[in-house]
Amino acid sequence: MRCSVLRLLLLSLLLLSSCSFAGSGTDSVGEGGIPPWSDDVSSGQDQSTGFPDHGTHPLGDYVPPDGLQLVFLDVGQGDAVLVRFPKGATMLVDGGKNDRGTEVILPAFEALNLVDLDYIVVSHADADHCGGLDEVVQGVAVEEVWENGIDKDTSAWWDFSDAVDAHGIPRVTVQRGDVREIDACRVEVLNSDQGWGDSNGDSIVLGIECEGVSVLLTGDAHAGTQEDLIDVYGSDLQADLVKLPHHGSSDRYDEFPSFVLPKVAVCSVGAGNSYGHPAPEVVAEWKAVGADFYRTDQVGTVTVDAKGGVLNVHTEW
Ligand SMILES: [Zn+2]
Repeated sequence: MRCSVLRLLLLSLLLLSSCSFAGSGTDSVGEGGIPPWSDDVSSGQDQSTGFPDHGTHPLGDYVPPDGLQLVFLDVGQGDAVLVRFPKGATMLVDGGKNDRGTEVILPAFEALNLVDLDYIVVSHADADHCGGLDEVVQGVAVEEVWENGIDKDTSAWWDFSDAVDAHGIPRVTVQRGDVREIDACRVEVLNSDQGWGDSNGDSIVLGIECEGVSVLLTGDAHAGTQEDLIDVYGSDLQADLVKLPHHGSSDRYDEFPSFVLPKVAVCSVGAGNSYGHPAPEVVAEWKAVGADFYRTDQVGTVTVDAKGGVLNVHTEW
């Protein structure tokens, strides 16, 4: 019981001191700035998640609401996004470079008391997306791997691929238009191998509809892929939360943000990277459509909770 009280106190402090509420209009913020699902937490409902105290890792002290949660882990230059669905299903989209699994992802999982993954999605075979995934496969049980079916002849890719096979994990080559229902959420593959012949263009792009919000995870989709997505999906690309394509590279289609129109945009990027990511003009384009903009190189890991059509962003770890 004492732990419950402590958690509630901690949550209250977090809500009062560190939250940034996304979006505008009537559906974004509860009265007085308290998100509408805080009552659920106060009722003790989240105690069922049973997170233990992990004093050394700030994520372990955070009690999330019982909605959808995305954790954009700060893996430096690269991507690693943990998706936690409302009824407990888990998906990791990409795993950063080599060693990021051991150094960043698995410690975060331990703090979250997360011992298995229902899905690993490897958006494409570049090392800043698959490099740490072999360590994840060796560290936790994984039910299924989604991939675009395109190998890359690098040690980063083969280390991951071999680890998946060694553990007997089923591999699914996903196609554009594939839809999976996970915890009453709709997960659609918007892009996979479209024959671009380059790893970025054939990145898996996911659209997630859940808890009254929409999420777009774009891998390293480049300008051509972004234009193609607009051609195919048009205004259906609209998403409340977007992970910027390709770490905010200037290789983008500049009308893309005006189709996505996100409330929250997250750029997963390493400080001082040699690619110049994110390009200043790209940051400006996303901000120009009204997005609250977060960069992992500036604020570290970004956690976005979604419930009842409301997004709640935390950056204090
Ligand atoms: Zn990348």
